[in-house]
Amino acid sequence: MQEPFQNTSPDAIAASPLIVPRPEHGISRANISENALKVLYRLKQENFQAHLVGGGVRDLLLGHEPKDFDVATDATPEQVRQVFRNCRLIGRRFRLAHVHFGREIIEVATFRGTTVASEGDDNDRQMENGRILRDNTYGTIAEDALRRDFTVNALYYNIADFSLIDYADGLEDIKAGRLRLIGDPEQRYREDPVRMLRAVRFACKLGFTIERQTEEPLFNLAHLLADIAPARLFDELIKLFHSGYGLGVFEKLRQYGLFGELFPATEDCLAREDQGFPLTFVSRGLANTDKRLHEDKSVTPAFLFGVLLWEPVRQRFEEYLAGGEAANEAMFLAASEICTQQQSLVAIPKRFSLPMREIWSMQPRLEQRDGKRPQRLVTHPRFRAAYDFLVLRAEAGEADPELAAWWTRFQEASGAERATMTEGSAKRRRRRPRRRKSGDATPGADATGVVKGGG
Ligand code: ATP
Ligand code: MG
Repeated sequence: MQEPFQNTSPDAIAASPLIVPRPEHGISRANISENALKVLYRLKQENFQAHLVGGGVRDLLLGHEPKDFDVATDATPEQVRQVFRNCRLIGRRFRLAHVHFGREIIEVATFRGTTVASEGDDNDRQMENGRILRDNTYGTIAEDALRRDFTVNALYYNIADFSLIDYADGLEDIKAGRLRLIGDPEQRYREDPVRMLRAVRFACKLGFTIERQTEEPLFNLAHLLADIAPARLFDELIKLFHSGYGLGVFEKLRQYGLFGELFPATEDCLAREDQGFPLTFVSRGLANTDKRLHEDKSVTPAFLFGVLLWEPVRQRFEEYLAGGEAANEAMFLAASEICTQQQSLVAIPKRFSLPMREIWSMQPRLEQRDGKRPQRLVTHPRFRAAYDFLVLRAEAGEADPELAAWWTRFQEASGAERATMTEGSAKRRRRRPRRRKSGDATPGADATGVVKGGG
């Protein structure tokens, strides 16, 4: 029906995979979500192939709890939809079936092939300058394995006989703690530059080393990220920074020059100050977020991006102040400028960028401690986040630790005590914080980095 196909890499397909039978591997159905099993069994019942694949298999083999379960099958998305009532087809670039069970979604992907569409056929793989724009070409499991990104992500758990299928030496790499791209690394990064970010993510998440040939191109290909849709980069950044190992991710992204491509204004500041407080500030902010995630506390992109973009905003703010603008206006202008620049690279949705800007705009307001102002500020919906932000700044040596401590006390104080505190501060002269170098930070209250009710 769909010919002629032009196979791009006929030699690339492993003829005979390693098949590990059920008694010889550690994957037990007891650790697979019931819903994933339901999907697998149901597809099998309908005479389709059905495998667990990707992060689920990888994490089970490593003894980690999988974040989600992905299924691969030879059924087309339309056929999957006919099997499951609770199913929705999503994605244009990469068409997938989502089978919904309450809050759990099992992602079902049809085996992708390695063929390139020729004119007039129904195939749908679109390339441009070596980049895959769209991939809805279906193929065999062997082809599907080789178009996956890393070898450790290309292991299949076959529901037909509970065996493990390995086309890409993924098992060996799992044992060695090694992250290796399938195929020619540079070509694979060019096909989809987000794989560079995925390399960093999995290296940090799994504690794996990136194999040399997979690592080498990372140092030179950061510029390819400029072509990725800003909304996709936002999603990927959330996965990178909101999974509990954000500090390690930040360091690796900088090491490969990827961070500068995503946050050029911040990278400029970091590069100029090297070991100074901007680096301390971002590092502490990310470490805090990691700690909160490990404690199952809430985190929000508003605070995260607030931290990542603060230094360029602060510097512009200071420049506007020096130019004679009032504090509120100076902050508004600085934030607008940096946000506009940033949005063209990474699309931060409004529901996060608005609270982020509020956190920033409250920073100069927290310096005003006279009269009724503090009382009003503590009732502001963004106060807690803004306060946490101030504490972080103080810990990094950029804001006055005495100011942060004052707000800590103010929140704990009774009504009468608060009145005394604001009277006292009315007479106090406003003092600009002394800039400190890292390692010189004064301990303040714990910066938690939380915005309650954030998404
Ligand atoms: P986790 O869900 O723990 O973040 P994962 O490996 O399951 O990790 P997903 O994004 O859920 O990652 O993708 C599922 C699988 O799809 C991957 O394991 C990989 O085999 C394949 N995959 C995902 N994104 C890509 C990509 N950009 N290029 C090639 N293969 C990909
Ligand atoms: Mg997954």
